[in-house]
Amino acid sequence: MIGALGAAAAAVAASCRWNWWRPRAKGLPVLCYHKVGRYPKGSRLKPLWVTPAQFRSQMERLKASGYTSLTFSELRDIDEGKAPRPPKPILVTFDDGYANNYEEAFPILRELGLKANIFLVYETLEGHNAWHNPASEPWIAMLSWAQVREMQDSGLVEMGSHTMTHRNLARLPPEDARWELVESKKRLEEKLGREMVGFAYPYGAGAYVPQVRRAAREAGYRYDFAFKQGITPWPWDAEAGPIKRLYIRGDDTALDFHLNLTRGRARF
Ligand SMILES: [Zn+2]
Repeated sequence: MIGALGAAAAAVAASCRWNWWRPRAKGLPVLCYHKVGRYPKGSRLKPLWVTPAQFRSQMERLKASGYTSLTFSELRDIDEGKAPRPPKPILVTFDDGYANNYEEAFPILRELGLKANIFLVYETLEGHNAWHNPASEPWIAMLSWAQVREMQDSGLVEMGSHTMTHRNLARLPPEDARWELVESKKRLEEKLGREMVGFAYPYGAGAYVPQVRRAAREAGYRYDFAFKQGITPWPWDAEAGPIKRLYIRGDDTALDFHLNLTRGRARF
């Protein structure tokens, strides 16, 4: 009796923490990473840090489960009927453009032959994450142009835009928000010689504000990415809203990762 009660209590506890009971989500899973490495002392944003060992095991999991990782351009080619659609497509994305994406994640991607996409903040390249308050999240190095080019030239990593300065687009005057969207696309394209196909809203802000989203669409990005947990049905109806993502946290377990991929959500 006590055993049965214990099992029931455990099931209730697991149901409150995990979304294992949700139906399987169909669509395009988009993983959202930030920093790969060990979080520094004083970090109050620890879940944004995924260790190289976690990242490796998650990427190995994708491979073992038969996912095909795509770049934004490859996804566009598929959507335009220029390339066949793989049975299990997935996007691996990184926000902000930290140097640790090159130092820690890129070697793993290269070793496993997986593709990824990085959203860059134009004015922070070669600098640091100046938009964070260093009292709550220590400043660290962002990517250099040489690192960005090396990753781009490998064919494994495509760049996208995450604005010029990482400001909250929903709180900016419309002309400033437009500048963040249009200028970053133009400058990144000039610097890298590739079209910026993807855009991610800093803090996810403005993704569901009609005038901000309209400005992002008008800037010419083919795909715009929110920071809302979930899996967007595919083919995608751009009119229905931005593309949802799966925020991968440093304190996620293997079960969380599995539920994110299959249910579009791991925890409450
Ligand atoms: Zn960001």
